[in-house]
Amino acid sequence: MIYFVECLLKDIFEQGKDFQWIRPAACLNCNHYMVWGHGFVPRYFDGFVSCLYMKCYRCPLCRCVMTSRPDTHFSRILCCKETIRTLLALRITTGRWLRSSLSLPRMRHWLANLKRHALAHLTSSWKKGLITDFDRLLDMRFVPVSRSM
Ligand SMILES: [Zn+2]
Repeated sequence: MIYFVECLLKDIFEQGKDFQWIRPAACLNCNHYMVWGHGFVPRYFDGFVSCLYMKCYRCPLCRCVMTSRPDTHFSRILCCKETIRTLLALRITTGRWLRSSLSLPRMRHWLANLKRHALAHLTSSWKKGLITDFDRLLDMRFVPVSRSM
């Protein structure tokens, strides 16, 4: 289970495993009052050449493992939400992709997935615009650019 934390990747990069993670107040699965530290897992993010270590926690009652992740990023996507939204907004308004370090197929993949999510989860989505749909899908707790529905 992913445990989203408000933090900066830069701080995690600089401090490594010494970074002071915010412990979950309760288990995200069963709401047990206490969780234990459960080591670290390496994760990769855009802009960092090496992996960053994310703190894990484990519930002693239901044994659920919660992996920390910066709330600036979606689960399983290396690029931050804000960059994805900006790149998609530019593509939608100008019809062209911004030249960046990100690959075109990757950005096209996000746009295709955003369209699929909008069609599947929103009614009359095309009339208000895809970026509005992106924000609305976020509010509905979907990952608008994820392949999984
Ligand atoms: Zn639990």
